[in-house]
Amino acid sequence: VPTAPSQSVPLLVGLDVGGTKTLAVAIPQGAGAAEPVASVRSTDEPTAGSLAALVEELMSVVPGPGVPRPAAIGVGIAGWVDREGVARRAPHLPGLVGVDLAGGIGGRLAVPTVVDNDANCTALAALQSRSPVPRCLVAVTFGTGIGAGLVVEGELVRGAHGYAGEPGHMVLDPGGPQCPCGQRGCWERFASGSGLARAAAEAVARGELDRAVFGGSDAPSGEAVVGAARAGEGAARALMESFAAWVARGLAAVVNMVDPDVIALGGGLVASADTWLPEVQRLIAANPTTGHRHVTIEVVAGSEAAGAVGAALRAGRSLRGVR
Ligand SMILES: [Zn+2]
Repeated sequence: VPTAPSQSVPLLVGLDVGGTKTLAVAIPQGAGAAEPVASVRSTDEPTAGSLAALVEELMSVVPGPGVPRPAAIGVGIAGWVDREGVARRAPHLPGLVGVDLAGGIGGRLAVPTVVDNDANCTALAALQSRSPVPRCLVAVTFGTGIGAGLVVEGELVRGAHGYAGEPGHMVLDPGGPQCPCGQRGCWERFASGSGLARAAAEAVARGELDRAVFGGSDAPSGEAVVGAARAGEGAARALMESFAAWVARGLAAVVNMVDPDVIALGGGLVASADTWLPEVQRLIAANPTTGHRHVTIEVVAGSEAAGAVGAALRAGRSLRGVR
């Protein structure tokens, strides 16, 4: 039975702002396990005002007497977030580009607020869940796009501008589909939810995949393909195998670049990891450039909330003066 935190336990709030929804969680400050004590979600257009309102809603559902005030707020957003916490490019969240979200939310609520890349936040959640601390941990998030966060010896690697860890925009096929980033054939055009849906639509158009399996749809969703693969439908299983190969191609490049001991997978697609992760692990182990290493590839603990929990941990680190 979870015990309600007393009002004397300070809370950290984390927001995971995605392309289609926002998850907000509260965790006790300084807790080892970082289990959320409350969470709320929203599909409202994310703005400083709507996110501040979501934090107030979250505080109102924290168990216990009264409405607590958080010690700090962390916000994870998908995109190129600079060292000052401002998104400079965000193909999936264009309304947040150039917006001082930390000032906007923190100013409204009078609570210290930090903004970081969502995959950096997921990496912090993955780090927290692992003992001993990995020497080099990469979190890779597979959702609308692909993000990554890199933690070496316990510290987030940010790069010169704050943009380190964007493997989703490695070009794996120069003649491939247009990416919102402006290039063609980026890894995330193949190994994301939208990439899986596009591959399925192409397979339907070629007559390889029977549209009857998807209720007659010419454009089955990624979830529909996963469902058909789980049900044993041969063409859907072949699509998932091809999807796994695209995931593994990009991960092999990540492994060769940073030599991690742990790759923690997050994002919406990990809900279907049973249909592709074993094949990815097999391919990385069989790859001549990556197979000789000991790389653990696993779904991050508490995967659905990991981005939001990590954003809260990020806020806690900033209170301690750690980036
Ligand atoms: Zn791209």
